[in-house]
Amino acid sequence: MKTPFLTREQAEDIARRYPTPFYIYDEAGIRANARRLKAAFAWNPGFKEYFAVKATPTPAILKLLKEEGCGVDCSSLVELMMSDRCGFSGGEIMFSSNETPAEEFELAAKLGATINLDDLTHVNFLKDTLGYIPKKISCRYNPGGTFTLGESKEGFQVMDNPGEAKYGLTRPQMTEAFRRLKELGAEEFGIHAFLASNTISNDYYPALARILFQTAVELQQETGCHITFINLSGGVGVPYRPEQPENDIAVIGEGVRKAYEEILVPAGMGDVSLCTELGRFMLAPYGHLVTRAVHEKHTYKEYIGVDACASNLMRPAIYGAYHHITVLGKENAPCDHKYDVVGALCENSDKFAIDRMLPKIDIGDLLVIHDTGAHGHAMGYQYNGRLRSAELLLKEDGSVELIRRAETPDDYFATVVW
Ligand SMILES: *Cc1c(COP(=O)(O)O)cnc(C)c1O
Repeated sequence: MKTPFLTREQAEDIARRYPTPFYIYDEAGIRANARRLKAAFAWNPGFKEYFAVKATPTPAILKLLKEEGCGVDCSSLVELMMSDRCGFSGGEIMFSSNETPAEEFELAAKLGATINLDDLTHVNFLKDTLGYIPKKISCRYNPGGTFTLGESKEGFQVMDNPGEAKYGLTRPQMTEAFRRLKELGAEEFGIHAFLASNTISNDYYPALARILFQTAVELQQETGCHITFINLSGGVGVPYRPEQPENDIAVIGEGVRKAYEEILVPAGMGDVSLCTELGRFMLAPYGHLVTRAVHEKHTYKEYIGVDACASNLMRPAIYGAYHHITVLGKENAPCDHKYDVVGALCENSDKFAIDRMLPKIDIGDLLVIHDTGAHGHAMGYQYNGRLRSAELLLKEDGSVELIRRAETPDDYFATVVW
């Protein structure tokens, strides 16, 4: 069972000031989770989480994570600019980008970010762009093939297809890139890999860590490069469905520690710092999209029309992603009605839920769409002239702060050349 962090009374009170639909984030939840992550990796002295900005590019959220000791992982010029404006600097910025324009490398270098190269050809591209190679540099590894973890005891499996992914260098290219970077003056090396997305398994990070640690030992032996950091990237998931088990970050941290003790320490590499670039795990559960039922329709199916649509939350429409829905004030009512919960876009994929069993919904009811704190508002768009909603922060003291206003028609028209 998923419990919203808002009551109906609270949400109605907020909706009087900020009309629905709106996103709201739970400061207490975000902070507590960031602290659990930090504690899980406290055994590694250099550990740092670089929050994947693309998941929730909202300055108030980035600043809050900064207070919890997190850095940022950027992948574009504007994300770098936002991070700079939020006060992140140098060692707090990771730049993991691909198909990168020269100006983005320039800004990343100017800010002192750690650049994570996505391809062998980017070694020379970076040298030509900057005129030098930064002393600290990282390369993204793609082992190819498929990546699978056996079924967990709850029956969930992890499977992904790195061989089909556009990212990263092959194993022989890693060796070549490290040799070349060293010739060009790099002194501190890092390895990064992202092999599977939204994993519901305490085994993903430990399995990835084993691959990266082994690769690091080999690379250090082959090239003599001093590997000082290993980046486990993102991919630790959240249970979008109520029946899915939650990842236990303490167990995950312990699994990675074992791999570290078994592989890196005996190779004399016990000085390697670890980092992560989690997005979804850091924010998804701590965001709600709150929307109001505005219409009902009885045709071949039962429809509830809400005032949010796929322009506010794209995941269900493009991935068929499941997002749990709670009807506020009816948390304990029986789920004895089957609905399609739909938005207003002229696209039949604009459905937040299909054949979902929910309590009887009345017009005016407020619905919470769960786990929308990451890759939610961030993926918003303006199709059909539907504008992006406001973002609010539910503070630890129970007050609510506007952290991004809703778009207005003027915003929409701002780029038009009439
Ligand atoms: C998207 C992304 C992340 C974050 O992924 P999550 O699934 O949100 O944890 C981290 N690193 C890179 C390079 C990414 O592209």
